[in-house]
Amino acid sequence: MTPDTGAFLAEARDWLAAHMPPGPLPSVDTAEGFEWHREWERALAAARLSVVSWPTEYGGRDASLLEWLAFEEAYYAAGGPVRVGQNGLFLLAPTLFAHGTREQRDRLLPPMARADEIWAQAWSEPEAGSDLAAIRSRAVPTDGGWLLSGTKTWSSRAAFADRAFGLFRTDGVGADADGAGGDRHRGLTYLLFGLRDPGVTVRPIRQLGGETGFAEIFLDDVFVPDANVVGAPGDGWRIAMSTASHERGLSLRSPGRFVAAADRLVALWRGVGEPADTATAHRVADAWIGARAYQLHTNATAVRLAEGGTLGTEASMGKVFWSELDIALHETALGLLGPRAELRGERWLEGCLFALAGPIYAGTNEIQRTVIAERVLSLPRASATSPGRSSTSFGRPPASPWAAALHDLLDAADVPAAARSWADGDRSTGLALWGRLAGLGVTALAVPEKWGGLGASATDLATACEELGHHAVPGPVAESLAAVPALLSALAETEGRAVPDEAESPEADDSATDGGVRAPGELPAPGDRADRCGDWLAGLATGDLLATLAMPPRLPLAADAEAAGLVLLAEPDAISAGRAGPRQRSVDPSRSLSVVNGDDVLARNAAAAVARAFDLGALACSAQLLGAARALLEASVRHARVRVQFGQPVGTFQAVKHKLADVVIAIEFARPLLDAAAAAIDRDAPTVPRDVSAAKVACGDAAALAARSALQVHGAIGYTAEHDLSLWLTKVRALAPAWGSQAWHRQRVVTSLALPSTIEPPSVGPCAAAPVTSAPSPDVERDESPWA
Ligand SMILES: Cc1cc2nc3c(=O)[nH]c(=O)nc-3n(C[C@H](O)[C@H](O)[C@H](O)COP(=O)(O)OP(=O)(O)OC[C@H]3O[C@@H](n4cnc5c(N)ncnc54)[C@H](O)[C@@H]3O)c2cc1C
Repeated sequence: MTPDTGAFLAEARDWLAAHMPPGPLPSVDTAEGFEWHREWERALAAARLSVVSWPTEYGGRDASLLEWLAFEEAYYAAGGPVRVGQNGLFLLAPTLFAHGTREQRDRLLPPMARADEIWAQAWSEPEAGSDLAAIRSRAVPTDGGWLLSGTKTWSSRAAFADRAFGLFRTDGVGADADGAGGDRHRGLTYLLFGLRDPGVTVRPIRQLGGETGFAEIFLDDVFVPDANVVGAPGDGWRIAMSTASHERGLSLRSPGRFVAAADRLVALWRGVGEPADTATAHRVADAWIGARAYQLHTNATAVRLAEGGTLGTEASMGKVFWSELDIALHETALGLLGPRAELRGERWLEGCLFALAGPIYAGTNEIQRTVIAERVLSLPRASATSPGRSSTSFGRPPASPWAAALHDLLDAADVPAAARSWADGDRSTGLALWGRLAGLGVTALAVPEKWGGLGASATDLATACEELGHHAVPGPVAESLAAVPALLSALAETEGRAVPDEAESPEADDSATDGGVRAPGELPAPGDRADRCGDWLAGLATGDLLATLAMPPRLPLAADAEAAGLVLLAEPDAISAGRAGPRQRSVDPSRSLSVVNGDDVLARNAAAAVARAFDLGALACSAQLLGAARALLEASVRHARVRVQFGQPVGTFQAVKHKLADVVIAIEFARPLLDAAAAAIDRDAPTVPRDVSAAKVACGDAAALAARSALQVHGAIGYTAEHDLSLWLTKVRALAPAWGSQAWHRQRVVTSLALPSTIEPPSVGPCAAAPVTSAPSPDVERDESPWA
């Protein structure tokens, strides 16, 4: 965080704390409530907090996008009322910064910032909803301007607002006048008009909740001067798309709103939740995880934009994600309220009624899913007969040259063949592959440098494990690469505090050796233990040794023991070298489970070391699951492009597109949780258990969804063991319950939420170089009074 940002945020928090209205404002969808909210906006403006992302000359603070996100978080955390000026502040203003004239900015922005002029969005028409280009309202040139006629509808708060921005069909520019034929996206003009101008009639419309949230606007030869055309006449579609990108963009709904709602939900659950009702508790955990995922994802996008990136289809993915999260949050709260949930005025009910509209406004979620399928996954458009573009890689580009080399190594190796041989009992090709991975340093990642390892970060380890999951590499990945090195490192550090010296242990006296030969169950001397663990670590680093372990909550089972030269039993009170019992077949044919008997105790009372090893293993498993989810999605997209039914690739069908769009959304929002968990391990944060469990829940759910969808999209061929898809389908089934089931991890998140900790504020620095004037925003919103 830069000092300026810190000072700004501190000032904003102080001001909000001192000036927050003492009780809920009346609903913004009533005449009275609208004016109360206008007064609040004026107070914000007087404190120069109404448009923090605008340039100072227009009343802003030149705040960067990251600073704006932090401000939003502080605003909602303080219980700030809905922003009544949002359509102007967050949709029209960025459009004017990008496409308006200096004169328009100077004339329109100051009264907008002060809430003297509140704007409505007038796009939808009775015959033009999702298909905005079907609009019929017209603007006809006249002396010094234009005459508007037609009907606009569903315009949020237009019953009370002052002015509106809309899109109009313009004669003589581009396509024909009524939109029939020609390019419907041409011949449209972006115009501004007053809602009380002569010729304008506004009909209020009551919404589902009974208040006047909408209005219909009838225009009868309404005069608009040329000065109120934004951009060039006929260029309205392009300009409207710029507005829409802000509307759907990363801050149509800033994360602060959902983070605050998730915190309130957790508080509600703490207050009224039944401890025995784990189903509801897990829904609370899911809502909290969703809010955190959205927060982390948005912050990562903001950092990318600050570094010169552009906002692409994340906007559509984010829109689907937050709108469904919002419904889940509110419905979970209503479930907790019991009979009170039907009472009007109940804050969660009012919020839920509004949340139900989220999948409709700002481009319906069906339209967004189609956009995601066609632009992110490159699935063919309807009626296409060709497969479309061939690229099917949806992961982020490799984070480093090393990650790229690992990717290339695995791409070039025939991993499916190695996995099939491994399943048949011939592990030679698989082990040769592990040898090549060792050559690249993969097996040395989690081994400290002292024992010949790389001492790499958990972030690097997660990157590697994701790649191994992506290629379905057989063998004890999470165990040998992550958990065992973590455990052995703790044991080898005889001076370290992770493993208490035996002298501290009640059993210490039993550990005496007899002539250098220890009986089973006796403890080695610290130096002996360090030597043995050091030797094993050195073997792991070079790849000469593979290892596995059994640990809670999967005691006494260890995976892939037949490939492991070292088998450990890690219990909270004792860690032993052990022997694996007979191999039991896993659903994943290239994997097995064995019961481990520990017969050579290495250390006692090493719960902290076991806990750290577990979290590293669970992180590695989550990364493998995320990699597998990507592989399943890629295979599905490849198949959907070439499998022809009814004369078209099946990927042209919307049912298939939307299924795969949901998979890519799940992957997209699981990734930031995985990154955050790895970062938490790297800085040894107290939140590690919660963060790792949130990552496991999200990655496991994404992988399960990817597997179910992949099977469905492939049809019967996917249901065969012959098709390589089966390698990932079965691996996901096997990894889902490994390292703690999904329910186990949800419960761990729940347990952490029972503590008085909430979602941390985002990390703000380093801030964007350039101020943004485009903090996107909601187009509509109900008052979610924070004082109910
Ligand atoms: C609370 C709220 C506030 C709003 N505020 C404003 C505002 O301020 N200004 C404004 O101009 N508008 C506003 N709208 C209108 C909003 O933009 C439209 O409702 C939206 O564009 C959808 O149009 P529609 O309602 O006509 O539904 P339709 O387009 O008729 O769609 C009906 C159903 O068919 C589906 N569908 C349509 N086409 C396709 C397709 N090609 N593929 C798959 N499915 C499809 C849709 O997803 C939807 O499920 C608001 C709406 C709501 C609910």
